[in-house]
Formats: sequence, C-alpha cells, structure tokens
Amino acid sequence: MDGHKTARYRKISGYHGFRYQFFCDLSGALMCTTDFQKEDDPLQAWATKGRKLFSRCQKCGRWVSDPMYNAETLECVRCSPWEEQPAFCPQCGESVLEDRAFCHRCHARLKYRDKEECG
Ligand SMILES: [Zn+2]
Ligand SMILES: [Zn+2]
Repeated sequence: MDGHKTARYRKISGYHGFRYQFFCDLSGALMCTTDFQKEDDPLQAWATKGRKLFSRCQKCGRWVSDPMYNAETLECVRCSPWEEQPAFCPQCGESVLEDRAFCHRCHARLKYRDKEECG
C-alpha cells in the first residue's frame, strides 16, 4: 500500500520551511494547507493537520473527504456508492442540487439504487 500513507499532497517550500496541501483522493478537493514546518516531512504534516480531515476507505485505501466517504460501509463512495441521492458527485465533486441520476457536469452516475446486479 505504498503511496497510501497520506492523502495526495503538494509540497510548498519557502523561506520558513515547508508546508503541505492535502487533497481528497477522490474529488481532488483541497482540504487543508498546513503551517510551515522546518523539516521536509509530509508524514509529520499529515499527522498534525491533515489526518483528521480525512477518512480512509477500507477497501481501496484512498484517503477521502467527508462527502466522498460512505460512513455506513467505511468505504469511499466509488467502492460503496450511496443508495440515496448524494450531495456531491463522486466523480468530479460538483454539488448536486437537483434530483438527478447523472452529474450535469461530468455525467457520472449518481444513484446506484437501480443498478443491475453484477455477477
Ligand atoms: Zn474505495
Ligand atoms: Zn460529476
């Protein structure tokens, strides 16, 4: 599970040290920007600031934000889609305002209640 110790992040180095931005693995949304720290240590930044903003999918290991996490199954919404209308598109993160089966932005399927059984 290399590469899954933290959510996807971007490092910013400056005069005062390093800071990190953490992103939701699924929607790509920026979740936080840490304060400067002296060491180039993303795991430290993750432990002090990033970790608590994310939930980890028990199935695929992605670190995702709350809207991308299905707390009932402890999996991300890609592995375990909502049966009810989601508030956000699991594909692109766009807000879902109307009762639609598909995202108006990326056309991802939003409701899985009617999906065919596979296998
Ligand atoms: Zn997952
Ligand atoms: Zn979408």
